Amino acid sequence: MATFLEEVNERIKGVPIQACYHCRKCTAGCPVAFAMEYNPNKVIKMIQMGMRDEVLNSSTIWLCASCETCITRCPNEVDIARMMDVLREMAIESKIPPREKKIAKFHEAFLSSIKSGGRINEPMMIVNYKLKSRDYFSDMGMGLSMFMKGKIKLLSPRTKDIKSVKAIFEATSK
Ligand code: SF4
Ligand code: SF4
Repeated sequence: MATFLEEVNERIKGVPIQACYHCRKCTAGCPVAFAMEYNPNKVIKMIQMGMRDEVLNSSTIWLCASCETCITRCPNEVDIARMMDVLREMAIESKIPPREKKIAKFHEAFLSSIKSGGRINEPMMIVNYKLKSRDYFSDMGMGLSMFMKGKIKLLSPRTKDIKSVKAIFEATSK
C-alpha cells in the first residue's frame, strides 16, 4: 500500500515534495501563513512523516488561496499550490468535513458558476454562496460599496465553447 507521501507525489505529477530542503522561503512569502494552523513548509514535513489525519483535518489546506507565491519563491520548484489542491481532493474523497466550511462552500459556488457559464457570473455566484453558507449579511456593506463602484458586474458573457467546459467537468468528476 502506498504511503501518504507516495500518494501525494503521484497526484501532484510534478517535482516530488521530498525535493524540499526546508528553507522556508515559501512560508516567508505566503500571504495567509499568519492565519494557518500549520505553515506550508510544516505541511510538507508532516506529509513526509506520514501524518495523514492531521494534514487532511487541518484548516491550512482550506485557507490556501492558490496564489502560487510559494512555487515562485521555491528554489526547487515544489508546487505547494498544487499540493494543497491535492490535499483538499483527498480530504473530500475521504469524507473528512472541511475545517473551514465557508471556504469549501465558496469553492462549490465558484465551480458551479464556471460549470454553468464557463466564466464567473459574480451576482449569481454571490447568491449561490450566500445560500450555501447561510451567511447572508456579514459582508453586505462591502458588497454594496463594490457594486456602487462598478466592481461587481450584473452581467457577464458566457463562454462560447461551453461544450468544452462541460467536457472538462465530466472528465474530472469521474
Ligand atoms: S521554498 Fe521550496 S524548498 Fe524551501 S521550504 Fe518551501 S517548498 Fe521547501
Ligand atoms: S499558494 Fe497557498 S500556500 Fe502557496 S503562497 Fe499562496 S496561499 Fe500560501
